[in-house]
Amino acid sequence: MSDGVAPNLIAAVDEAKHWDRLMQMAAIGAIPDAEGKMVGVNRACLTPLDRQARRLIIGWAQALGMSVSVDEIGNLFFRHEGTDANAAPVLTGSHMDTQPNGGRFDGIWGVVAGLEAVQAIRDAGVATKRPIEVVAWTNEEGGRFAPGCMGSMAWAGFKPANTWDGVADPDGITFGDALKEHLAEEADIPRRPLGYQPYAYLEAHIEQGPRLEAEGYDIGVVTGIQGSRWFIVELTGETAHAGTAPLSMRKDAIQDMIRAINALNDLMADPTDVLRFTVGRIEVHPNTSNSVADKVRFTIDFRHPDKEVLILNGDAIENTIRTAVKNCDVKVTERFHALPVEFDPIVQNAVSKAASEQGLKQIDLPSGAFHDAQFVVPVCPTGMLFVPCFKGISHNPAEYSKPEELAKGVRVLAQALADLANQ
Ligand SMILES: [Zn+2]
Repeated sequence: MSDGVAPNLIAAVDEAKHWDRLMQMAAIGAIPDAEGKMVGVNRACLTPLDRQARRLIIGWAQALGMSVSVDEIGNLFFRHEGTDANAAPVLTGSHMDTQPNGGRFDGIWGVVAGLEAVQAIRDAGVATKRPIEVVAWTNEEGGRFAPGCMGSMAWAGFKPANTWDGVADPDGITFGDALKEHLAEEADIPRRPLGYQPYAYLEAHIEQGPRLEAEGYDIGVVTGIQGSRWFIVELTGETAHAGTAPLSMRKDAIQDMIRAINALNDLMADPTDVLRFTVGRIEVHPNTSNSVADKVRFTIDFRHPDKEVLILNGDAIENTIRTAVKNCDVKVTERFHALPVEFDPIVQNAVSKAASEQGLKQIDLPSGAFHDAQFVVPVCPTGMLFVPCFKGISHNPAEYSKPEELAKGVRVLAQALADLANQ
């Protein structure tokens, strides 16, 4: 970016207007707290609330002269033209759906930030060679229809768009029917084909982790998304009377679970504190205070940004449990396995350069959570930028980022998009 352009662009991002728009969005599906203050958001995908939020942002985009289109899985696009209409566009955006007990910033911030970055580019009179498109991906959260990231997966060609037509929500409504109804409600919006080849994709998101806030950084330059492996462990022993069965004769599933988890903690010990290992759910049978448990089921969520560690430690989980357990039968099932993805230096550099030119404190870090961006990686150079969020809390009404933190993020996004759109 040439000297003199960045200050215009930075000045064109209006912190108060940006916050006001986010609060208008947060009112759609707002969850009141005990004092009646609207702090959380419950806006499930393909519901009337989702459509209301989409109509609001469509209005803002149209006021900017952006063209609007929707594809067959409901991904919504806004396009700002460049000077070369045939150049591959730079794509930005995120998602507008929330978790059932969600917050005001996860997802929606990246979509509104994308729109406002385009507005700043226009208001500052910055010409870009490439068009810039803002996308709102369908069903990132997977809260109503599992799995999440359906919109980005279908767009990127991971799965055909009709893969999840039969998936039902808790009320028995299928994704296919909800999508049909949704697209009928948006019949006035021009259709576009699924997928294309952007020049680059840059997604802005709240960190959903504690590092930026705790360590005093303004911007996270995201290096990739760590890999995950999820397991279910079932231990089967024998139930017995707590008052009569001698300890030496028991096959106590809870005691074996403790041995297994202790051994797993040793396996997963990491002095660098990068590895993430969680036993988040335990089911005990019969789960009574005066019986020896005959069955325990527990989950393992193991994540790491390094593929080697993910494979080595993940493959060692079953043997570690079998060696540690004394009396029970062991069954270990791996139910999810996603390798880490690495983001492209082109996008990371654009974010990093914008942050340093704006005098902001930045750090490189991997994403601990999943995002639509991971499915875009095979399609085009991809990256993300993070802004701090209060104590790293997300998927919760307590989710919070300060207006000035979000505005800094929009300014970096605007400059990085303008930079990429002139490459
Ligand atoms: Zn999100």
